[in-house]
Amino acid sequence: MQADLIQRIVTEVLKELAPTPSPAEYGIFPDMDTAIAQARESQKHVARLSMATREKIIANIRKKTLENAGLLSDMAVAETGMGNPSDKRAKHELLAARTPGIEDITTKAYSGDAGLTLVEQGPFGVIGAITPCTNPSETILCNTIGMLAAGNTVVFNPHPAAVRTSNYAVHLINQASFEAGGPDNIATSTAKPTIESSNILFKHPDIGLLVVTGGPGVVTAALKSGKRAIGAGAGNPPVLVDETADIKKAAADIVAGATFDNNLPCIAEKGIIATIKIADELIHYMKQEGCYLAQPHEVEKLRETVLEIKDGHPRLNRNCVGKSAEELLRMIGVSTNEKIRCIIFEGDENHILIKEELMMPILGIVRAQDVHEGIRIAVTLEAGNRHSVHMHSKNVDYLTQFGQAADTAIFVKNAPSFAALGFGGEGFCSFTIASRTGEGLTSASTFTKSRRCVLGDSLSIR
Ligand code: NAD
Repeated sequence: MQADLIQRIVTEVLKELAPTPSPAEYGIFPDMDTAIAQARESQKHVARLSMATREKIIANIRKKTLENAGLLSDMAVAETGMGNPSDKRAKHELLAARTPGIEDITTKAYSGDAGLTLVEQGPFGVIGAITPCTNPSETILCNTIGMLAAGNTVVFNPHPAAVRTSNYAVHLINQASFEAGGPDNIATSTAKPTIESSNILFKHPDIGLLVVTGGPGVVTAALKSGKRAIGAGAGNPPVLVDETADIKKAAADIVAGATFDNNLPCIAEKGIIATIKIADELIHYMKQEGCYLAQPHEVEKLRETVLEIKDGHPRLNRNCVGKSAEELLRMIGVSTNEKIRCIIFEGDENHILIKEELMMPILGIVRAQDVHEGIRIAVTLEAGNRHSVHMHSKNVDYLTQFGQAADTAIFVKNAPSFAALGFGGEGFCSFTIASRTGEGLTSASTFTKSRRCVLGDSLSIR
């Protein structure tokens, strides 16, 4: 309890000492209605911009993201008390390099005796977006690149716990736009985001599309709004390891993925299922990778520390979310001279620390009799989020069976979870993974509506 108090004081002091850039001015309005009106005005200009100008603005957003990657990362850690600056910097660098721009907007053509038909991707207009405190500026920058490429402007209701960092990202986006000859307010936000301000966004007639990145509560609220909504909800990704895997590599990959930004990403490994033949070997190699194997009494202390039971339901202690393994060990009174990256423990599939999405480097390990039981347990732990699962195996049949049974937006095989974001894996980057509504990793084309443009009897020269 005392460690918890010290942690809160440290977080408050860090907030005071946080890097103080020039105040976020561009695109930030005192209330949500003004933020929406300004984004609507701006969208009239954006709709008339050439694709080349859109791309020029996006290039400048990428440049500003890189120039400010360190500052935004330090601000986020200081403001939220979660994650670590070096991994946050890597996420900014990744999004700057690999978030798709205008090249993602394509046209389909059909030509024949009856003429020519084009199916083009047009903007929704003004998008309302909700962003999390776990990847605050990353989500805002990545969303805006895609939304602008598609011809939209966007109004953000950022997470209140990350408002300074989020609004600074909005400010940089607008700075990038006018430096590149674009309008201001291509992205807007409010100075004091609240649940009430998100509800204004959900109901406003000028908002054509909602894009919601966060936990189950906010995604459900958006889906009930009556508007078209893209829902990027919670995950609790299990990682399955079978006896055909390269166990040493699996251990290294799992620890790398699960400790990235202190386990904040929704895609990060949150629990392990290991077949009994290789479970001991996996634990052995995980210890070599800097894991601390917690004993039952320490696991009990962890449970009491990281979860609070309110009205009979477990709630995350937000002071533990995104903390390093060493900070978490200190909170339960464990000191060690070794460098610890992750806490591991053994439990069954009903263990609350394995079932709950903790977003901190604590990984429970469940032993399965064989890969088939492992698949069943992993699917149960994924809990119907349809978000992400991961597997280490050399058997293509087992990989296929797991992929089919899990039916998730992401399935990473034989790599750390962050390969799914294009970090050491092929493919583009996104910080909004539409698990609930099925679009998967979102990009510019996700933020468009389809328009059919038909010309009768002409322009087919076949
Ligand atoms: P959160 O759900 O606590 O907050 C998200 C935002 O929604 C905040 O702005 C919050 O104020 C607002 N909000 C919450 N409930 C609301 C309601 N009922 N109505 C209107 N607004 C509401 O999420 P968080 O703690 O910032 O982020 C962590 C969660 O988000 C995890 O569950 C994680 O898995 C998920 N996440 C998902 C993705 C994805 O791409 N699928 C990406 C990042 C995070």
